[in-house]
Amino acid sequence: MTIFRCVNCGQPITSEVMPGEPLRGPERPPGNEVAPPRMASGTFKINFDASLLIFHPDDVSGAALHSDPRRLGGCCGPAGQDGPNLVCVGCGVEVATKESDCWTDNLVALIAAAVAEEPKVL
Ligand SMILES: [Zn+2]
Ligand SMILES: [Zn+2]
Repeated sequence: MTIFRCVNCGQPITSEVMPGEPLRGPERPPGNEVAPPRMASGTFKINFDASLLIFHPDDVSGAALHSDPRRLGGCCGPAGQDGPNLVCVGCGVEVATKESDCWTDNLVALIAAAVAEEPKVL
């Protein structure tokens, strides 16, 4: 098990997680409701170019919504199409993008450069 901390201030950003595989592919299921989460709770997946770490939204408890409303566009939840929309609760730096609207995926993508894994398992 591992957690991810903010590299700027050391605040834990995630709960304890372990590497896992997505529950489904990148295409969201058809329909107009919020999609089921991409990842199972307690797991994360590094994206194709290692710039993002994909989480279940409930596992990212150390981040708060961005103060800039332009980052928080969406109707049923944040769409996450306007840049990072979650900040570290400790220091306020941008650490992740949440998308959970009715037409987007349902996940939180941590910015790999903004967090440090501890202890390192990969
Ligand atoms: Zn919506
Ligand atoms: Zn921080």
